[in-house]
Amino acid sequence: MTERIVVVGAALLDAGRLLAARRSAPPELAGRWELPGGKVETGERPEDALVRELREELGIDAEPVERVPGEWPLRSPYVLHVWTARLRPGSAAPRPLQDHDDLRWLTPDRLWEVPWLDQDVPAVRELAARLGAG
Ligand code: C5P
Repeated sequence: MTERIVVVGAALLDAGRLLAARRSAPPELAGRWELPGGKVETGERPEDALVRELREELGIDAEPVERVPGEWPLRSPYVLHVWTARLRPGSAAPRPLQDHDDLRWLTPDRLWEVPWLDQDVPAVRELAARLGAG
């Protein structure tokens, strides 16, 4: 059996809104929305991977808050773990620097207005329940 590789996704929350990011690549994912994040590298703590990925992809200084219970399968061998996160004081506002070409802050009643990646939908459903928009 192949070892599983954890991808951390951020539920970046600000004033009760969730940040969604639209992928610009690869072609089969472009145009769909995701929780920004990426692969945890060997020996890296998931929280550190989250902070690193959010800095690289969005130019922000983020603080992980807590892991959302659950694990969702991506394309093998990847599995998605989600952490809530917030902007640290003084952080720049998020902007799409790589992998994405648009960002939206979604209020809980509008979470389903963007076409999420199929594989992110179960995680977003869990977040919707936690944000009171289940
Ligand atoms: O960004 P990175 O290439 O490290 O992401 C690893 C894999 O996880 C990619 O195939 C990406 O499409 C996938 N992914 C996902 N949902 C997310 C974040 C990443 O399916 N929220």
